[in-house]
Amino acid sequence: MSLPLEVEIKLPTGTTYKQPTGLFINNEFVYPKQKKSFEVLSPSTEEVITSVYEALEEDVETAVQAAEAAYKTNWTWGPPEARAAVLYKLAELVDKNAELLASIETFDNGKSLQNSKGDVALTAAYFRSCAGWCDKITGNLINTGNSHFNYTQRVPMVCGQIIPWNFPLLMLSWKLGPVLATGCTTVLKSAESTPLSALYVGKLLVEAGMPKGVVNIISGFGATAGAAIASHPRIDKVAFTGSTNVGKIIMKAAAESNLKKVTLELGGKSPNVVFDDADVSKTVKHLITAIFFNTGEVCCAGSRILIQSGIYDKIIKEFKKETEKIKIGNPFDPETFMGAQASDIQFKKILKYINSGIEQGATVITGGKPVEGKGYFIKPTIFADVRPDMDIVKDEIFGPVVSVIKFDTVDEAIELANDTQYGLAAGIHTNDINKIMKVSNAIKAGTIWVNTYNDFHPMVPFGGFSASGIGREMGEEVFHEYTQVRAVRIAISNTN
Ligand code: ADP
Repeated sequence: MSLPLEVEIKLPTGTTYKQPTGLFINNEFVYPKQKKSFEVLSPSTEEVITSVYEALEEDVETAVQAAEAAYKTNWTWGPPEARAAVLYKLAELVDKNAELLASIETFDNGKSLQNSKGDVALTAAYFRSCAGWCDKITGNLINTGNSHFNYTQRVPMVCGQIIPWNFPLLMLSWKLGPVLATGCTTVLKSAESTPLSALYVGKLLVEAGMPKGVVNIISGFGATAGAAIASHPRIDKVAFTGSTNVGKIIMKAAAESNLKKVTLELGGKSPNVVFDDADVSKTVKHLITAIFFNTGEVCCAGSRILIQSGIYDKIIKEFKKETEKIKIGNPFDPETFMGAQASDIQFKKILKYINSGIEQGATVITGGKPVEGKGYFIKPTIFADVRPDMDIVKDEIFGPVVSVIKFDTVDEAIELANDTQYGLAAGIHTNDINKIMKVSNAIKAGTIWVNTYNDFHPMVPFGGFSASGIGREMGEEVFHEYTQVRAVRIAISNTN
């Protein structure tokens, strides 16, 4: 018997809901041409939740055709208020379905319900922020003298978007918000391990009044559906969030197909710098949020902590104590801060890094082990006595594992902070404005958090330097990424 286009799922909370399984194309859930499907696992129980249908290259083509048709309509070229209305309604529906969306996310990804609820709130906030931008995306009038009239327009595009599995819903909102605000149309592919919340948003988009074909959402794998998006000859722009290696593949595919515009939000190995004058308990709270929030599966995680020698022992003592209090386990328990890692592959990769740290001579301050029993749970892990050449210090682990390094001077801290191929984010903890200015100006990263961490706002742009990516999401900057500038220069005839 073939998989129905909608299945009933019982969540661990006891709630049952109807989960779409098809490809969301032209505002309908449809079968892919080959009717292939794949299983979706719950990382906290290792059980199969359901299967969903898999898009292949020919289905990407169908979805692109839908996006191209929508691009020709009044949605793209008509009044921006119509787009704002859909975004406001969508934000309202996300809020209305917050409990359900958070539970779907927790079941599918393994993250704690606490974390999922935060993601849902940020998702609604971002859609609402984008709603306000719809009628403010303007060009310029350029004065070159009275012989010509010049202006620029911001022209939307047909997009392809590929999102990761660590924040399925939030990353979807960072992609769909600017699409809906600018009049772009899109084909969005969710990550193969976490397709459920994106499909559910398909239902909400219809309810919000989005015209057909504007947003098409497909489930599928990177090497097939993802690659078909990156190399599609009629997609004008691809936006990707994921690993640096895949980012490089996408950029190459974009170059070799039609030189589509590319934005990449990639990996990181972000430094979190603590100076002698920092407030110990507030700083430790931020160090924990920086590395253990979302089980460390955060591209901008503060995974290298640099501590000045005068405060080193105090911070380590408090950091160990507070880390050992973190509640890890059943992600549906409202007290749980750390749920499961998102997949078996990720779980094994993190444990391999932990073992390499131990083998290469680093000291485990706490953690260093999985939690016994079912599910992909790993204890929050702190390493000290590390060397710059160790894999745990150089590579992005994407898990709850942090290396702590001692330094003496401000210049040494800057040098250590920049000793990485990445440049996504950094943290600075001090109340000395001169240190804040010197260090924030010297660190090569797209985001600097001072006396805070993992602290996002829809109006503040996010993205990386160097191997951490190209382009920015959120803020005003993102609208430049989702539009191309057209300059119009009109010669004025001298009439009497
Ligand atoms: P990870 O390696 O941590 O799973 P990825 O960067 O591979 O992260 O995954 C992020 C997203 O990129 C997913 O949606 C995945 O399907 C997609 N992806 C993976 N490989 C490719 C590829 N070759 N082309 C396009 N998309 C890909």
